[in-house]
Amino acid sequence: MHELGLCDAMLKTIRHVLAEEKVETGEVRRIVLEIGELSGVVPRFMEESWKAVIDRTPYADVALEIQMLPGYADCLDCSAHFRPTENDFQCPVCGGTKLKPVSGTDMMIQSIEVGETEVEKTE
Ligand SMILES: [Zn+2]
Repeated sequence: MHELGLCDAMLKTIRHVLAEEKVETGEVRRIVLEIGELSGVVPRFMEESWKAVIDRTPYADVALEIQMLPGYADCLDCSAHFRPTENDFQCPVCGGTKLKPVSGTDMMIQSIEVGETEVEKTE
């Protein structure tokens, strides 16, 4: 399950970004992650791995929201541009299997949501 390694790397990236932005760890509420359909990353495994990676860390309460991005591929035989499904990686026009993924092949952190610090009002 390489999702565990991906989550580990993601947490390192987040730590780095927070340090640069001088954001306190406790202020982070949610991570929004974009996963391309053709990235080979399984969202369900990412969610499970994320929980494992943040367990007993200052990030234990940080939620992970996953947004899927559609993946498209070009057929190298007939140049058709289409959206293959996970189970049917084949050109719908000519039936060719020599395909070049052109989008939805990546995974990236879309945003790190930081909560507003609640300020107690004294009157
Ligand atoms: Zn084709």
